[in-house]
Amino acid sequence: MKTTEFDLISRFFAPLAESEPGAFGLTDDAASISIKEGRLIVTTDALVSGVHFPEQTPAHLIAEKLLCVNLSDLASMGAAPRAYVLSAALPGFVDDNWLESFSKSLASVQKTHGMVLIGGDTVATPGPLTLSVCMLGEVDEGKVIKRSGACPGDQIFVSGTIGDAALGLLSLHGGLAGLEPAMREELEDRYHRPRPRIDLGLRLFGLANAAVDVSDGLVADLAHLCESSSAAATLQAAKTPLSPPAQAALKANPELLTAVLTGGDDYELLFTAPRESAQALSRLALELKLPLTAIGSITESAEEKGEVRVVDENGSEISLPNKGYRHFG
Ligand code: ADP
Ligand code: MG
Repeated sequence: MKTTEFDLISRFFAPLAESEPGAFGLTDDAASISIKEGRLIVTTDALVSGVHFPEQTPAHLIAEKLLCVNLSDLASMGAAPRAYVLSAALPGFVDDNWLESFSKSLASVQKTHGMVLIGGDTVATPGPLTLSVCMLGEVDEGKVIKRSGACPGDQIFVSGTIGDAALGLLSLHGGLAGLEPAMREELEDRYHRPRPRIDLGLRLFGLANAAVDVSDGLVADLAHLCESSSAAATLQAAKTPLSPPAQAALKANPELLTAVLTGGDDYELLFTAPRESAQALSRLALELKLPLTAIGSITESAEEKGEVRVVDENGSEISLPNKGYRHFG
């Protein structure tokens, strides 16, 4: 007998909903969850095979990326993850093995971040595998961190390292053949497996004035933040924190700097903070064992708000061919 959508849901997805009584074992029309006082933070992100990940990507990596890109949005708002719903449009090749591996990986990520699956939709498609998650998080009243709070004079910080994912994607396409295999693997892993900075986001309220997660590219996302804040920014390219493999790749080919600054998929947090926060941020970086690097400053907006000037060590402007990833045009 052919597996129905309901068998599939009860076998692979219902176990992920067990810890939430209000998910009703994924058997009712909708879920009902209690929320604490404060703000409910809602975000959604879809991944399409061939657009957001290469078609041959294993199911467990797709699941991990799907949840982590949504978690990263919660992190940038300063939210604690709570629950998610999953809409899956599945092409014919998706079989039990695929679903087993996919759902196991979802289970592992949701456990790490203390959240639960509470519902979704499952359909068959003649098109590419398409997965969409809507994720819910919580923030205490008045503690939401927005893109719009940056002030002239703020320092701009970024967590972790930048460019690894873009270089990882390049490597997956055979573009970094000269690099040691272990280094290529590290970069590819960073492309497949974003590390949402939830712990950092939860600690930024009171220290940061504005935050955004870096998904489209460092320069593009900084421009988004500046636009929301009616400000401009100067970014010191040489201060961009680089991992050892990214340093090696750039040493071999300095032109890769463009990919690093505009490539996207980093899922680090980019935030602005007044000078008074600098000491507390250094302590936080040590505590979280996560580098927080000052890479520039917010300036008054001239006629063009959202403008980001990227400069080299000598203060000369670096012109970039494009600022980041855009889906349309
Ligand atoms: P309805 O027809 O009422 O929209 P569905 O038949 O689509 O309900 O889904 C039945 C139940 O299974 C619902 O509780 C729904 O939330 C859940 N569900 C369906 N697909 C998924 C999925 N991919 N992940 C989690 N829950 C799902
Ligand atoms: Mg439905």
